[in-house]
Amino acid sequence: MNTELKSRIHYTKPSITSLEIGYATDAASNGWGERCYDYIHRFEAMFSEHLGVKHAIATSSATGALHLGMAAMGIGAGDEVVLGDINWIASAAPIIHLGATPVLVDVLADSWCLNPAAVEAAITPRTKAILAVHLYGNLCDMDALREIGQRHGIPVIEDAAEAIGSIWHGHRAGSMGIFGAFSFHGTKTVTTGEGGVFVTDDDALYERTLTLSNHGRARGETKQFWPETIGFKYKMSNLQAAVGCGQMERADELIAGKRRVFDYYRNALRALPLRMNPEPADTTNGYWMPTIVVNDDVPFDRAALLEAFKTDNIDGRVFFWPLSSLPSFRPCPEHAVSHSLSGRAMNLPSYHDMTEEEQDRVIACVSRLVAAGS
Ligand SMILES: *Cc1c(COP(=O)(O)O)cnc(C)c1O
Repeated sequence: MNTELKSRIHYTKPSITSLEIGYATDAASNGWGERCYDYIHRFEAMFSEHLGVKHAIATSSATGALHLGMAAMGIGAGDEVVLGDINWIASAAPIIHLGATPVLVDVLADSWCLNPAAVEAAITPRTKAILAVHLYGNLCDMDALREIGQRHGIPVIEDAAEAIGSIWHGHRAGSMGIFGAFSFHGTKTVTTGEGGVFVTDDDALYERTLTLSNHGRARGETKQFWPETIGFKYKMSNLQAAVGCGQMERADELIAGKRRVFDYYRNALRALPLRMNPEPADTTNGYWMPTIVVNDDVPFDRAALLEAFKTDNIDGRVFFWPLSSLPSFRPCPEHAVSHSLSGRAMNLPSYHDMTEEEQDRVIACVSRLVAAGS
């Protein structure tokens, strides 16, 4: 019996080089006084250029960017925002903090993102926005959502926290809605430890969001300490932005690392009765999290796969639960796709420089457990 403890495989970890360390050291040494915003402004410029949008505001998180942007749109008490049932809580929480109601709809079986027909059916006179969350790098059907939005006069917001590197018909995820939000949490493809960004092409929305992001103080206000409204404090620090500048110089390399890891998994798992993140024609998937969904018609014991990972010192990460199954939400048993996906799906470990030997250990567990069930 092999009793040797195998090295731990984390489900994700950042890729940090001497470039990021150099910038962070410079920010810590010199980024104060009149230079205290230098890396922040540079990071915002790099990010808006990468995405092809006019404006970017660096924030402390994607949650903060979503909260700011929706507040700037005037979303508040009595309003509704439509989003997919399978989601992380961070997409829904800002809606609730603003006093509005998240209206959950079922998702599609292939993209795991919100179903446009269900979105259209959920629209009421109170609907103020459609929140398109690009799950695990998979893209929402932006053409269908924007067409529905246009017909009803309802803007589409993009939560692209998981979708850096994903491209829909030539447009990067996060650049197609009224605004987009990204996360730079330590688990994301591009990281600043904690952090986020708000992006938009809309000049007026940018100005309102900028004012709200600075405790309600408008740009150009000459009176000191003079908030014209009640705003928020969701800022990124110059130190974090310094790390972010290094990451953005390496963004293509970081995205390529994620895609390489995904391709290796996909090839190795091709023969098993499961599907993985899709990449439809004329799109690119940034593959933040390689994910398996075992086919409906084969038995699958997810707990057993989690146990096998644990035994082999591999981090197991379950697919998001339907939000409607959490204690703070009204149950939606009619969301058949969301409920079926959640029990049959798992994220696989992926970090930019993961080795083939490490991936082979993950592949061996998945192959053993999925084949055993079928
Ligand atoms: C990570 C994530 C968030 C939250 O990002 P933070 O920076 O942690 O606030 C929001 N939405 C989605 C889809 C995410 O994956």
